[in-house]
Amino acid sequence: MVKNSAQPKPLSTRDQRELVSLRDLSARVGSDPLLVQASNGNTSIKLDGILWIKASGKWLSDAMQEEMLVPLKLAEVKKSIRNNTETASRFTMKQKHELRPSIETAMHAVLRHRVVLHVHSINAIAWAIRLDGPRQLEERLASLHWQWIPYAASGIRLAREIEKAVASAPETDVLILGNHGLVVCAQDCQTAERLLCEVERRLAITPRRFPSPDTTVLAMIERFSRWRFPDVASLHALGTDAVSRKILKGGVLYPCQAIFLGRTMPLVPPALVLSKSSERLNGNDGTPAFVAVERSGVMLNEKMTSAERATLIGLAQVTQRTEESARLRYLAEAEVADVLGKGAHGREVVVRELDGERKTVYPRNAYVS
Ligand SMILES: [Zn+2]
Repeated sequence: MVKNSAQPKPLSTRDQRELVSLRDLSARVGSDPLLVQASNGNTSIKLDGILWIKASGKWLSDAMQEEMLVPLKLAEVKKSIRNNTETASRFTMKQKHELRPSIETAMHAVLRHRVVLHVHSINAIAWAIRLDGPRQLEERLASLHWQWIPYAASGIRLAREIEKAVASAPETDVLILGNHGLVVCAQDCQTAERLLCEVERRLAITPRRFPSPDTTVLAMIERFSRWRFPDVASLHALGTDAVSRKILKGGVLYPCQAIFLGRTMPLVPPALVLSKSSERLNGNDGTPAFVAVERSGVMLNEKMTSAERATLIGLAQVTQRTEESARLRYLAEAEVADVLGKGAHGREVVVRELDGERKTVYPRNAYVS
């Protein structure tokens, strides 16, 4: 039987304190929707040959309330990478509540710093989807030890790209991941947090203003059962802002968009809402979790999960920070298929009612951030 997580030696008081610091920092980072949405993002610390990494599917914002760090022998993770085996795939998940390490474990292992923070920073993504991103960031990140990593699927492929990039520049402690997000590293949590704040300050983009929603058309959708107005006003930008609509029609910008919101956006003209075909919004099966109506705004369906909602809010924030003139790199069809298929992120997401609350769960053989 495959042995799952490492059984670390009893921790010294100092190491225990470091783990608490990481959990505390993880909870704070995870509670900022401009840094982390739902279960994405992951943090780790290397202590005495053990890599403590966030478990797949866990929300960083819960880091102080629940156990989510998986201890792994760093040497074994590195061996797995050499053997081209994803660490998480060795986990048998015999127990219902067993933790499985993040899909991004390999990336954390190849970075030499003790503390690694990986976030899906909205500001970083707004740069990371641009074809001219590396040039745009030259000035903004000047004097920092940063590198741009072109898009690679999460897991060993991304880890290898990072390993290659930092081999000739071991001082690198900031990585902009193309079509993905941001990584910052340091020797301790405090320094990592300070660096994260500094990078965020430099990458910050003021979101574009957008027209107010037209509630007359949206109210037509509300009359169907299970539809409601969003409680976050910024979501309406996906329907009312012409630039955002144009961006979204171009395709998938980053993996989480495809995983949680699908390959194509349910973007419809107002005429469709007023026509008979709007009846399709009135069913259960096949009804989208949300709909963006051109020039009118956005409506959410009750079936939307909290992870989908957080991802949609993040997507609206990214598009509001992207200029119309920016030339973007969308994920290629094969990259999207890889993300949604048997590749890095596992199979389709299944939504189940758990304890009266809707939660997103993953099939046993799937693993995510
Ligand atoms: Zn990620």
